[in-house]
Amino acid sequence: ELHNMLVELRGNIRVHCRVRPVLPFDHTDVFSIRSSEEVIHAISDDTVMVNCMKAGMLVQNKMFEFERVHGPEDSQDVVFEEVKSLLTSLLDGYNVCIMAYGQTGSGKTHTMMGSQFLDELSGTQQEAQQGIIPKAAAELISEKPAESHTVEVSVLEVYNNEVFDLLARDERNAAGQRRDVITTRTEIAIPTLASSATNNTAKTTVTTTELVQKLRAHCPTLVHTDSSRSHLIVTLTNSSSTMDMRRSTQKEWWSPRCRRANLTTRNSSDELSASPASSPCSTPSLSPCPSPRNSISETPFRTKLQLVDLAGSECVGMSGVSGAALWESSCINRSLSALFDVLGALAEHRPHVPYRNSKLTHLLQDAIGGDAKLLVMLCVSPTQRFITESLQSLGFGTRAR
Ligand code: ADP
Ligand code: MG
Repeated sequence: ELHNMLVELRGNIRVHCRVRPVLPFDHTDVFSIRSSEEVIHAISDDTVMVNCMKAGMLVQNKMFEFERVHGPEDSQDVVFEEVKSLLTSLLDGYNVCIMAYGQTGSGKTHTMMGSQFLDELSGTQQEAQQGIIPKAAAELISEKPAESHTVEVSVLEVYNNEVFDLLARDERNAAGQRRDVITTRTEIAIPTLASSATNNTAKTTVTTTELVQKLRAHCPTLVHTDSSRSHLIVTLTNSSSTMDMRRSTQKEWWSPRCRRANLTTRNSSDELSASPASSPCSTPSLSPCPSPRNSISETPFRTKLQLVDLAGSECVGMSGVSGAALWESSCINRSLSALFDVLGALAEHRPHVPYRNSKLTHLLQDAIGGDAKLLVMLCVSPTQRFITESLQSLGFGTRAR
């Protein structure tokens, strides 16, 4: 029984790994030429090989397996193709979370948001290579499954365990409004073609392009000088009056690991019911995600897609810093270890999942656990210079499963 549950839970957590290419800035270490050596290789669709070196000699090759491994040559499109079926899960009634984990410079923001590249020939800025967030937003907004279908967006930054609403900042043109209460948030509704006639009351309406521009404007340079020290959470809430029945496609992606059983949709942890007023998923507007088994019901359903660009994981166990940097890194430490604890509790199927230990896990509560689907995208740098951080990330990925 327990074993089945574990298998079940595993089916809801997947780990992909992306090894970025060696980039010009990898060659800037003045202390060591060897540090730019490529030692981490995506050797197949599901295996990463790490060459462990000692004094320039190969001492061992370590292998790490994941559900999917992307090498340096994999484009943004290829990476998105692999996560696209999660959007189907969302429309099928599941909450979904995709989070990028890795050390600063490993490609998290590139993977989640995208980057702009300078065209060497013309010297002009090329159209950005969009990452998962703008692509997913565009995809969802263009979906028109039902007569009433809206997508709401919130963009939050968690910095030193405080939550900032970046869209609110945009409106007031001030430096990030602090959010004391997690449940208050700005949501911008983006009515699709079908719903705009009936359902665009007081809410701001933005087009996909505007949204993407907004996100782009925010994400590379966040409120705080160094985005590697804060977590970015983009939440797209999808509401529809009728369930899109496409569970057959759903199965393809999660098999062979996933076998659905009679788990309840939300992890009915005691803390959820203990304090409904402050729980982000129990406000009247955010009804818990209904089970697909009830999909015939006529009540509107809401599902959440949370896309997370985590703070740099190099802060885990960082030493030799003091003052503000120490405080920052201890906050990052605590939030990332709170995340480990949540994953650990879920994996062991403990009745109490400690979501409330940090703002990060609290905000992600709806989309991690229960039958929500979590995809961890591990980002790693390929060079010797960051080998310690990369091994830590690869280890985290192994543990997340
Ligand atoms: P992080 O957010 O993890 O700190 P970034 O996404 O900012 O890292 O990546 C660091 C740099 O490497 C950026 O200039 C980014 O454009 C570049 N980069 C990251 N991944 C890739 C990739 N797969 N292909 C090309 N350039 C990349
Ligand atoms: Mg970044």
